[in-house]
Amino acid sequence: MTARLKKALLRLRLFFKSIRFRLTLWTAAILVVILLAFSIFVYYRQTQYLLVDRRAQLQEQAQQLSPLYRYVGMAEPGLPGAQIPDFTSVGSQVLPAGESLVFIVPNGSTLQKIGGISDGAIQTLLQLWVNAGQTSDPLTYESSPVGLASLNLQNRILYLVSPVFDERRQVGLLILSSPIDPRNQLHTLLVTLLLASLGTLAIALLGGYWLAARAMAPVHTITRAARSISETDLNRRLNLGSQDELGELADTFDAMLERLQAAFDRQRQFTADASHELRTPLTIVSLEADQALARRRSIEEYERTLTVIKSENKYMSRLVNDLLTLARMDAGTTQMKFEPLDLSDLALDVIDRLNSIASRAGVELHVGDFPVVNVNGDTQYLTQLITNLVENAIKYAGGRGHHVRVETGVRTVAGQPVGWMQVEDDGPGIPAEHLPFLFDRFYRVDKSRTRQQEDGLESDQDKELEGSGLGLSIVQWIAQAHGGQVVAYSEVGKGSTFELQLPCLK
Ligand code: ADP
Repeated sequence: MTARLKKALLRLRLFFKSIRFRLTLWTAAILVVILLAFSIFVYYRQTQYLLVDRRAQLQEQAQQLSPLYRYVGMAEPGLPGAQIPDFTSVGSQVLPAGESLVFIVPNGSTLQKIGGISDGAIQTLLQLWVNAGQTSDPLTYESSPVGLASLNLQNRILYLVSPVFDERRQVGLLILSSPIDPRNQLHTLLVTLLLASLGTLAIALLGGYWLAARAMAPVHTITRAARSISETDLNRRLNLGSQDELGELADTFDAMLERLQAAFDRQRQFTADASHELRTPLTIVSLEADQALARRRSIEEYERTLTVIKSENKYMSRLVNDLLTLARMDAGTTQMKFEPLDLSDLALDVIDRLNSIASRAGVELHVGDFPVVNVNGDTQYLTQLITNLVENAIKYAGGRGHHVRVETGVRTVAGQPVGWMQVEDDGPGIPAEHLPFLFDRFYRVDKSRTRQQEDGLESDQDKELEGSGLGLSIVQWIAQAHGGQVVAYSEVGKGSTFELQLPCLK
C-alpha cells in the first residue's frame, strides 16, 4: 500500500470518527425517523379519506340505480321499468371504467352483470350479506389482497351490496364494486413523499455537515493554538471572545494557561533566586580560602577565615534545608503525622529552647496566657513553625526592641473554635506595603539586610540577621496544611505581631 493511500485511509477513518460526521449522522437519523412518521401519517390519512369518499360515492350510485331495478323481472315485459337498464347508452358517467355492477333477483339468478367482478366474489358477497342478517341497509365490504399488493390501494376493491325494493318488498340485490383508488392517487402521493423526504434528507445532511463544521471551527482554533503553545511560550492566549460554550471553554483554557504561566514563572524565579542565594556564600568561601592561601598567615587570621567559612556553611546548610522542605512541599511528598496535641505545650517547649538565643541577642522572652489549645497537628512541623516565628521576632526585635511576647488562646469564629498563638515583638516593624508579600518565597523587607555581595563587609549584627526569605513561606505552608493560616500585623517603629490560627478540636 502506498504511503498516499495509507494517509487517505487514515484521514477517512478520522473523518468517520469525527464529531462533525457523527453529529451529521445523528441529525440525519432523527430526520429519517421524523420523515418516516410524517409520511406514514399522511399516507394513512389519505387512505382513510379515499375510503370514506369512495364509500359515499358507491352509496350515491346505489341510490341512483336502485329505482331503475325496482320492477325488473317483476312486471310484464313492455311495462315501464320492466327492462334491465342499458348503460351502454347512458355511458360511463353512471358506471365509470373499472367499476362493476351485478343485479341478482331473490331466487339467486344474476339478471345483469357488467364489469370484471368474478362469480366467486359475488358468491362471497351474497354469503356475507346473508350472514349479516339481510338488512335493508346497504353494506360495504373491502377486499384485502394479500402480501405487498395490499399496499397499493389500486388493487383493493370496495363492494357495496344494496337491497332493491318495490313498494312492498325486496325485489333483488344490487352489487356495485369499484377500486378504492381508481386514479392511483396514493401511488403519486407515495412517490411525492419519497422524493420530498430524500430532498429534505439531502439538504439536512449538507446543512447539518456545514453547521457541524461551523460549530466545530472554534475547536480547531483551540486545538491549533494549544498545539502551538510550548512550555516556553506560555504567554499566548486563545482570546476566542465568544459568549457561547466554546467561548467558555477557551476562557477556561486561557485561565489555565494563566495559572500555568504563573507557576512556571514562580518556578523559574525560585530556581534563579535559589542559585543566587547559594552563589554568594560559595563565592565568599572561595574568596576567603584564596586569600588565606595566598601567603602564610597568622593563627588569628586563619581562625577568622575558618569562622567566616563556618558561618557561610551554616547559612548554606539552612538554605539547603529550607529549599529541600519547599521542594518536598511542592512535590506533595511531605508526610505529616496528625495527632491531637496542645499548641500551648509546643509553644512553651520552643520558648524553653530559644531562651538562651534570646538572651544572647539582648531580648527578653515573655510568656502570656497559655490555656490548653487542642488541635490536630504534626508535632515536628508545628514546632518548626513556632520556632521560625519566635526566631524571627528575636532576630528582628534584637536590633531595636528588647521584648518578645508569646501567647496562646482560643476564640470562636463563625461558631467554630479557633486556636491561636501570637508572637509579638517591639522591633522595627514592617511597612504596610510589604505585608502582602511577606509570605512569598525569598521575599525580604529590608533589601539592605540581604546578604551583601562578595565584599565580606558585613558586621556580626548583619550576619545574625541574614535570612534567605524562605522562613515565612514555609511557616504559611505548614499552617495551611493544618487547615489554618498565619497573619501578620505590624506598625513601623512599634513592632510586629504574627498570629497562627488553627482549627480547634472540640
Ligand atoms: P528571613 O529568613 O529573611 O527571615 P522570612 O521569610 O522569615 O525570611 O521573613 C521574611 C521577611 O519578613 C524578613 O526578611 C523580614 O524582613 C520580615 N520579617 C519577618 N519577621 C519579622 C519581624 N518579626 N519583624 C520585622 N520584620 C520581619
